[in-house]
Amino acid sequence: MNNPKCCICGNLCEDQYGNNPDPLIKDEGARCCNKCNDAVISFRIESALMKKKSSESEKIGNLIESNPSDKDIIMATVDKMLSDWEDTTRKRYLEDLRK
Ligand SMILES: [Zn+2]
Repeated sequence: MNNPKCCICGNLCEDQYGNNPDPLIKDEGARCCNKCNDAVISFRIESALMKKKSSESEKIGNLIESNPSDKDIIMATVDKMLSDWEDTTRKRYLEDLRK
């Protein structure tokens, strides 16, 4: 069985399995090489920390407490900011890996 081609840098993976590039690349069945997998892991950690930070943010909690009727819009805005952050950061990672 041939080693799969890395979906990020285009090199062949080091073994026949490769690594799962999600969430950096969300294509079903995509594989990435060990070198790109380091960036995938950093991206996972960075995203997890961002999500944790925003969900535990005391300031956002206070904002909701003082404007309870705006809770939905506040939460939707936080979600939007997080997903914008994720898109921008994903692009930055992919540009770095592909140059
Ligand atoms: Zn690669």
